[in-house]
Amino acid sequence: MTLTLDRPGILGWLRETDGARLEELWRAADGVRRAHVGDEVHLRGLVEISNHCLRQCAYCGLRADNREITRYRMTADEILACAKQARDFGYGTVVLQSGEDEGLTRDGVADIVRRIKGEVGVAVTLSLGERTLDELRAWREAGADRYLLRFETSNPDLFSRMHPPRPGKRPARMDLLRALAPLGYEAGSGVMIGLPDQSYEDLANDLDLFRELDLDMIGVGPFIVHPATPFGKAGPAQPGRQVPATELMTYKMIALARLLCPDANIPSTTALATLNLDEGRELGLQRGANIVMPNLTPPEYRALYAIYPAKACIRETADLCNRCITGRIHKLGREIGRGPGASPNLRRRHKTAGFERVTTRPRGLGRP
Ligand code: SAM
Ligand code: SF4
Repeated sequence: MTLTLDRPGILGWLRETDGARLEELWRAADGVRRAHVGDEVHLRGLVEISNHCLRQCAYCGLRADNREITRYRMTADEILACAKQARDFGYGTVVLQSGEDEGLTRDGVADIVRRIKGEVGVAVTLSLGERTLDELRAWREAGADRYLLRFETSNPDLFSRMHPPRPGKRPARMDLLRALAPLGYEAGSGVMIGLPDQSYEDLANDLDLFRELDLDMIGVGPFIVHPATPFGKAGPAQPGRQVPATELMTYKMIALARLLCPDANIPSTTALATLNLDEGRELGLQRGANIVMPNLTPPEYRALYAIYPAKACIRETADLCNRCITGRIHKLGREIGRGPGASPNLRRRHKTAGFERVTTRPRGLGRP
């Protein structure tokens, strides 16, 4: 069955409320997921390495102005221990995520990446915010495979209200995002759904931008209000225009992203599990997603990485998260993916550009 995915068709699906019609969307997305990325669910071990942040994002609890949280930064040895745990659980990738933290220096992060690649041997994804091209190049040369940087919304007015540039600097996010693939990274991006004043047209534009950027990874999750942020105090939105920050809208975006970017890796996110702990992750996986990111952050830091309140699983240990998530995936009749789990998109791009493997460096960047 082919669905109409021109602009009116996409807007129709984004506004669809009929359960039987939506079943068609879920079925189509699940079929495309199976045909393009298979039944394997790849696990990426998430390590939240620092909650220091110098930015003032209007939506996020880690913003610099939030004095209500205790800040931490993990040591290199603590991060290495988490990466070893990822390998021991059979995960092919470790994702190092943080606020925009200048305490995580170019050389410090490069050393950590080099040690993970040398001593542990898993793929490394970085998600450390807007960093300089020099830093991104150094981390790629040290062996980092992927970089995640959500553009958050394709609406430039909304973006400038919610993600002000650093004082005296130009907005950098889109330029950095476009620089990732030429540096040899697998490029990941994504958006939040249900931001104040976000419209259905904005979401349709987000989907267009996913396609235009030829992303290897696409992460979409509901916006969750944090009371200690400017967006936690936002006034009432215009009814009819405002996209709701719901599970249903998130599934629709996952399904449409899968149909429009069939080869991308798409996670079923923690934010989705936060809205529906019983089956949010499972429904994401049945409606187009093929990735889950079990949390490996040590329990003493987990609760401090409070980007939004009541985050799913903040009190669990890595071992419990691993058993819970693998059990849920097996119950769906899906397999756990082995190896780094690069997107077929990247393999196609590398073939045309003369690359061979996910860990192979692009020509011209040299050896680590
Ligand atoms: N600092 C890096 C950055 O901004 O790219 C990486 C860490 S940041 C916490 C990771 C993602 O969390 C952001 O890209 C954003 O989409 C998401 N996030 C932040 N606050 C959120 C909120 N209140 N609700 C849902 N997602 C949120
Ligand atoms: Fe910092 Fe990222 Fe949160 Fe913005 S979204 S405040 S950059 S951690």
